Amino acid sequence: MSDIVFLDGKFVPPEKAKVSVFDHCLLYGDGVFEGIRLYDGCVFRLKEHLERLFSSAKYIALKIPLSRDELKWVVLETCRRNNLRNGYIRLLVTRGAGDLGIAPWLCKAPSVVCIAGKIKLYPVEAYTKGLRIISVATVRTPVSSFNGRVKSCNYLNNILAKIEGDNAGVPEALMLDTRGYVVECTADNIFIVKNKVLFTPPTYLGALRGITRDCIIEIAREMGIEVREEPFTRFEIFDADECFMTGTAAEAVPVVNLDARPISNGRPGPVTKRLNKRFRELVTQDGARVAEIGSRPRKLGRHWGAA
Ligand code: PMP
Repeated sequence: MSDIVFLDGKFVPPEKAKVSVFDHCLLYGDGVFEGIRLYDGCVFRLKEHLERLFSSAKYIALKIPLSRDELKWVVLETCRRNNLRNGYIRLLVTRGAGDLGIAPWLCKAPSVVCIAGKIKLYPVEAYTKGLRIISVATVRTPVSSFNGRVKSCNYLNNILAKIEGDNAGVPEALMLDTRGYVVECTADNIFIVKNKVLFTPPTYLGALRGITRDCIIEIAREMGIEVREEPFTRFEIFDADECFMTGTAAEAVPVVNLDARPISNGRPGPVTKRLNKRFRELVTQDGARVAEIGSRPRKLGRHWGAA
């Protein structure tokens, strides 16, 4: 829980941070969001998160009422007002309140919400011992129906897969496309290592272009590791030397077993460890600092009435 929440130009206590029951985000999942990490006062890759938010909004034809600079200030100011040095930030833009009926033009104005609070992480053993996951029957929505690169407020496809995973007692679930190609997990991207080459599914299969995914690819290339974004199936995961998942909360977490098959020797691999180590060095350097917030943007959007 956070102490103060940004909602449409105002910073309000959580109990006053309320949106309408007529908001189409509540009624139809019509909205977009970002999940962002704050590490030691540094909002990791905030610029990239904002880029992705705008790309998602464009796909669903939603005009975000604030500029990138204004949103950046909102995120940093929300962290500052919550006295946070480490935590998780949820930024979302809803379609706004409107009459019943799915048409977005029924809604008057989008709402912008920013929440900053503590984060629940995987336990240390997840990194030292690795995770077991399963693949699930819930197929990833085809990109022709809805593109998984969009971080929308409708996560039901992922939620159904998550439930299947939970029923089987695993913390994450692997989602395949209609042809059986690996796409990603319910809230994490997936990587494998085979013969010293790093593979991850291309986003055109319907995976989110994770901020962590991009960072891991960059780190790997800097380390001289070859990276290939190409389709693979469960076979290649069973047959891999290493496997790991990436995400804002997970960072790079080893996967040691898929569908009851141990991956390699069933222990986290050296490439995964090296990448995660380097990633953890970067997270406090690569982003926007709360301490360097700057003044409140002069060019205020119409949502920016009272403080
Ligand atoms: N895939 C999905 C479906 C996600 O929701 C997320 C974010 N939790 C990711 C991948 C990882 O993306 P990121 O590294 O930007 O957190």
